[in-house]
Amino acid sequence: MAEFISLYSGSSGNCSVVRSGGAYLLVDMGKGVRVTTGALREAGLDASDCRGILVTHEHSDHVKGLGTFLKRHPLPVYGAGPTLAALEAAGLLPAACPVCLLDPDRGEEADVAGFGVRAFPTSHDVPCVGYRITTPDGKTMAIATDLGTLTPAVHAALDGCDLVALESNYDPYMLHNGPYPYYLRARIEGPRGHLSNDECSEKLLELVQGGCEKFALCHLSQENNTPPLALQTVFTTFGAGGVVPGRDCIVQTQRRSEVSPTLEF
Ligand SMILES: [Zn+2]
Ligand SMILES: [Zn+2]
Repeated sequence: MAEFISLYSGSSGNCSVVRSGGAYLLVDMGKGVRVTTGALREAGLDASDCRGILVTHEHSDHVKGLGTFLKRHPLPVYGAGPTLAALEAAGLLPAACPVCLLDPDRGEEADVAGFGVRAFPTSHDVPCVGYRITTPDGKTMAIATDLGTLTPAVHAALDGCDLVALESNYDPYMLHNGPYPYYLRARIEGPRGHLSNDECSEKLLELVQGGCEKFALCHLSQENNTPPLALQTVFTTFGAGGVVPGRDCIVQTQRRSEVSPTLEF
């Protein structure tokens, strides 16, 4: 059995856990070490069982707590070249931490304590990756946040997974009628920004029709989205495709500042 646990998710910080047996990997750490440590404890996880931290990109909502956490727990850090270089330049990688490069374009799989980890490129305004992870017991999941559009590489990475954690960042109506200035709106909805509820839900329908049954909606915007709205968009899209959530699959929005319920896959 494998588990996906979001410790917190959204534009104010992202951190999630992929766990199998006694060990787990972390993906990103976008809040301070005190908050993150508290969330790990709440999820019943000991830092000594963490086998590595996978970093998607250098934005602070993904790396804010990393430097201090790594000073206390010198774990291996995985990421793409430009991201690791940015972390190094920002002084977030203590010398005691092994730094492991994953080339998202080559699609090679790294063995991280029995977890098969592959990075894939996502379309964002800085170099950014998602991760496809095969757990030691043979389950597969993918996580993709911070992507303006679904590229062929993302489609391929999400294909055939037991669980998909995908960004459902904004509702287009809220974005257009909210407080954001034009340039920020254009960045969010542009091809190197974030994924809308509609884009996410259409992809989820395709995935559920392909056999995936577990979905985590991640990185919801605080200003331009609400959990009920994101979920409603998925349910409407699923309804049109004859898919019944609860019967055919499980869809869960991930909480902004709290540990979300564990999703088994
Ligand atoms: Zn970002
Ligand atoms: Zn982000």
